[in-house]
Amino acid sequence: PGGFLEIITGPMFAGKTTELIKRVERQAFAKRKVALFKPAIDTRYSAEEVVAHNGLSYGAYVVPTNEEGVELIREITLKEGLEVIGIDEVQFFPMKIVEVLNGLADEGVYVIASGLNLDFKGDPFPVTKELLVRADNIVYLTAVCTVCGRPATRSQRLIDGKPAPRNSPVIQVGGRESYEARCREHHIVPEG
Ligand code: ADP
Ligand code: MG
Repeated sequence: PGGFLEIITGPMFAGKTTELIKRVERQAFAKRKVALFKPAIDTRYSAEEVVAHNGLSYGAYVVPTNEEGVELIREITLKEGLEVIGIDEVQFFPMKIVEVLNGLADEGVYVIASGLNLDFKGDPFPVTKELLVRADNIVYLTAVCTVCGRPATRSQRLIDGKPAPRNSPVIQVGGRESYEARCREHHIVPEG
């Protein structure tokens, strides 16, 4: 009873990881059995913790970004009797995570997943999209546009300080050196 699917989304630097940690921590204070999961691909700051751009961190299970990794999230949650689970960078997992997280919520787990809304081209991440329409609550966060200071909804990919062209690969884990938060007007995707 009390299962719930909550999705935190927005561009890079919007505070998604900070918000995820905050929500999971609050549930821990409320004496719920909680755990955080993160994809093994995201080792930007730490291999065993979820770390936000502002330095906030929380211990996490690190799972591979394949179907076995998704199954592992399900198994650990059931075996440990977790009441609340947080998943960071959920867009890096295969589509199977959608049915697994939705199913865990059906089984009474409070699932909080944080994921990018759009890739650097401005196209939706399919996993985030599918989770959003199944969510019981959506937390849509914006960052600050690095050009004009207005709310940013998009992630600008930069290569040597210049906008990355449309034909560069979608998944390229990086931080402040290769991505900036941008509003619609200042988000640029050159052809080629
Ligand atoms: P996300 O998980 O969405 O990438 P984090 O929670 O890791 O975001 O980091 C959010 C933090 O990033 C902010 O609290 C702020 O300190 C920092 N930050 C850096 N650049 C920006 C920006 N352009 N807009 C907003 N916050 C930024
Ligand atoms: Mg994050």
